[in-house]
Amino acid sequence: VAGERLSRFLAHAGVASRRHAEELITAGRVQVNGQTITAQGVRIDPEQDQISVDGKVIQAATQKVYLLVHKPAGYVSTAHDPQHRPTVLALVPPEIRRLRVYPVGRLDIDTSGLLLLTNDGDFALQLTHPRYSTQKHYEALVQGNPTPEALEALRQGVTIHEDDGSLYQTSPAQVRVLRQSGAGTSLILTLHEGHKRQVRRMLRAVGYPVRQLIRVGVGNLTLKGVAQGQWRHLTAAEIHQLT
Ligand code: URA
Repeated sequence: VAGERLSRFLAHAGVASRRHAEELITAGRVQVNGQTITAQGVRIDPEQDQISVDGKVIQAATQKVYLLVHKPAGYVSTAHDPQHRPTVLALVPPEIRRLRVYPVGRLDIDTSGLLLLTNDGDFALQLTHPRYSTQKHYEALVQGNPTPEALEALRQGVTIHEDDGSLYQTSPAQVRVLRQSGAGTSLILTLHEGHKRQVRRMLRAVGYPVRQLIRVGVGNLTLKGVAQGQWRHLTAAEIHQLT
């Protein structure tokens, strides 16, 4: 059944206990979109309907949620996509979407890996603000075998082209080679900034285009135990540690 019982909404919003909320409804003190409701069991849409008690509008209790999502390639990390491609919100159940969660920062559509979703604006701002410099860890598979000079250039900072045509000098990064073979090289890059397509552009700048990109970690968080397309709640300790 769609929606939420009116009495439950009122209880969650902190107006009254469930029992007392039912009494308020029966007493004719509760309005839905300006209309007094006295019947029990009426369902409302907390996102659409305006609920008031004695004429005073009640804000839905927005429970704060923090999720770690393992984004597959092919999903966009925005809440709405004008091109109607699948968004990362499709990976979480409707009860969570209803809490209006959105991605913290962005991963390219063709990048997979660790993405955080939240409805806590302060938390999202802290994690994306350059001043807080949360470390992001990427595993990149590139064509060819980067030379020691190329690796050193990535560490020191390289010049990349931004979308608006400007040039940007990347901040120092950590870079290590994970595996190397005839097919290519896997690298781990750790950055504390996130310009658009930064990892791809850095590797292109030194002559080693990315074939596959995975964000394997953010801060101390990893993808351990979360398969592609799956998600989990962050623990209180993890939330605390990130901010
Ligand atoms: N760098 C990229 O190039 N792409 C991402 O999705 C994230 C970082």
